[in-house]
Amino acid sequence: MNILTMKFGGTSVGSIEAIDQATTIILNATKEWKAVAVIVSAMSGVTDLLIKGASSAAQGDDRTYKEIAETLQAKHKEIIEALVVLEEQTELKTLVKDFINEFIGLCHGVYLLGEVTPRAMDAIVSFGERMNAPIVSSVLRRKGIRSKAVPATELIRTDASYQNAVPDMEETRHRVRTILLPLLEEGIVPVITGFIGATASGTVTTLGRGGSDYSAAIIGTCLDSTEVWIWTDVDGVMTTDPRIVKEARVIPVLSASEISELAYFGAKVLHPKTIWPVIERNIPLWVKNTFNPTFPGTKIVRDPEKGNGGVKAVTVIRNLSLITVEGRGMMGVPGIAARTFSAVARQKANVLMISQASSEQSICFVIPTLNVPAVLKELENEFVLELRRGDINRVWAMDNVVIVTAVGTGIRSTPGVASKIFGALGDANINIIAIAQGSSEYSVSVVVSAEYADTAVRKIHSNVLTRE
Ligand code: ADP
Ligand code: ASP
Ligand code: MG
Repeated sequence: MNILTMKFGGTSVGSIEAIDQATTIILNATKEWKAVAVIVSAMSGVTDLLIKGASSAAQGDDRTYKEIAETLQAKHKEIIEALVVLEEQTELKTLVKDFINEFIGLCHGVYLLGEVTPRAMDAIVSFGERMNAPIVSSVLRRKGIRSKAVPATELIRTDASYQNAVPDMEETRHRVRTILLPLLEEGIVPVITGFIGATASGTVTTLGRGGSDYSAAIIGTCLDSTEVWIWTDVDGVMTTDPRIVKEARVIPVLSASEISELAYFGAKVLHPKTIWPVIERNIPLWVKNTFNPTFPGTKIVRDPEKGNGGVKAVTVIRNLSLITVEGRGMMGVPGIAARTFSAVARQKANVLMISQASSEQSICFVIPTLNVPAVLKELENEFVLELRRGDINRVWAMDNVVIVTAVGTGIRSTPGVASKIFGALGDANINIIAIAQGSSEYSVSVVVSAEYADTAVRKIHSNVLTRE
């Protein structure tokens, strides 16, 4: 069966006009494809609000989550009244109300406990998608399409690593095919909640921020879809974030390795885990603009075009810190690097880059700033003896840094590219704190101070990017 799997992101389903537009795109797709499966995010801003409600409650604030509940209630009610047929409105409003009440109940619990566990956080943030999918499905019915909302908790089985759950693909494939294929055969469009899954015992999990793209990849591959299309609010994958550089251009074709590198190093347009599951099965993957649907967008292909070593795109990741373990005696002590990274792993901190610093008597790496206190403590415990003996002098963090990454096939082995990047930053008087070591063929990364983040991106974009 020819199946098209499409995912609509937050902005694409974030307002009356957007839902109207997205559902028109779905309607048109049903005319051209035998079967269409749809994955939707929460309305834009909703996930952020849910997180804010939970975190403020954990900090002893008993008011903010109640205000957020009212905002969310009003937002969804307005959409229902504008876009859904009268006969379906009451049921949908009750469903939204029930989720909002559950949100209030959970936040109240968090407030009383004074902390929010990852498990509770996942339950709380799941409401955005769970309120939205039934609404979008109902709007489709109003447009004459047979449609059914399907919660991904019934489809995507994951482990219990809350906030970053890992799908069990075998069980998920079985469920997806058992539940969705009969609907698709009948010409029914399933509207599935992005972002979420459930453990074997039925507890809600999430796939990480921006995870609806990954949901589309999971569902798309389990269905053996013919194509997977990611609908967002820009014309495709661009040479950089258009919010930083307004001259950013769309890249018509990108290899899976290039987009993986871009996504990993901060280009929010596609969740990094989305790419390989789809591409490995030779399923064409497209990124398209809901608000400019006739524009082709970006096609992601398996093999790189013969790269000329030029820089195709530049990205930035913010809110990072550079951790340094240093000491004159440490080179004589075996296993320091292994022990360093095991200690970091115990705190589940994501090491984004291992870098080359000026001195050889140190190990430097970059992690999210929010992990710094726990990681420093873990390292101090790990090296308590070495610190006492003076083999290691100190373990410290430099906060407020960003990683700026230039991406393109073959750029690391092309003479002159790195020096152009360093030159562009030098011209702008931007000090390079560290450079990446041993990363892939597809990128060159530098660490700079956060205050220069946008300037560094603009400089590389204007001075180093290859014009097609
Ligand atoms: P969605 O809600 O549709 O998933 P996101 O906000 O997660 O959308 O991702 C789309 C946004 O990613 C764009 O609006 C853009 O600002 C940002 N972005 C960052 N880097 C890039 C890039 N290289 N190309 C396109 N968009 C990018
Ligand atoms: N709604 C979720 C988030 O904001 C998932 C997504 O949009 O992809 O992170
Ligand atoms: Mg996204």
